[in-house]
Amino acid sequence: MQKGKFVPELIAPCGMNCGICISFFGYTMKGKKRKHPCSNCRSRDSQCAFIKKQCDTLATKQIEYCFECTDFPCENLTTLDTRTRAKYGMSMIENLRNIQTQGIEQFLKNEQERWKCSTCGGIICVHNKTCYTCNQSR
Ligand code: SF4
Ligand code: SF4
Ligand SMILES: [Zn+2]
Repeated sequence: MQKGKFVPELIAPCGMNCGICISFFGYTMKGKKRKHPCSNCRSRDSQCAFIKKQCDTLATKQIEYCFECTDFPCENLTTLDTRTRAKYGMSMIENLRNIQTQGIEQFLKNEQERWKCSTCGGIICVHNKTCYTCNQSR
């Protein structure tokens, strides 16, 4: 998948934008180059490394986004969201609510601006705040 242009397939059911994820860019959290970058949540068979506990609803692809789930926002998602907000300044639950109210196309437009590198126009990684196109740190 093309890096730099956000498309609906890059937005995971949990609200994560896989296009800003360090694994998607092909690096580990320790900054080492991965042998196999993660393509994105929707195209992989196993659960994402950032979702620790299994969710049957997601595993069996019963819903497109977590906000369609009767348990939304469930305990697992809330725990993950709290950690992601604190560590990376990004909320999946907020993303999901924005997708729900504004629609996916508007959300993608906003994300494109939000994560744009001010130096080269590339994408800033949410995990280490680095642009992998020009290496500039935000
Ligand atoms: S590791 Fe998870 S968040 Fe990152 S690109 Fe893969 S599925 Fe998406
Ligand atoms: S149980 Fe939680 S993780 Fe699973 S689909 Fe519902 S809101 Fe999403
Ligand atoms: Zn850049």
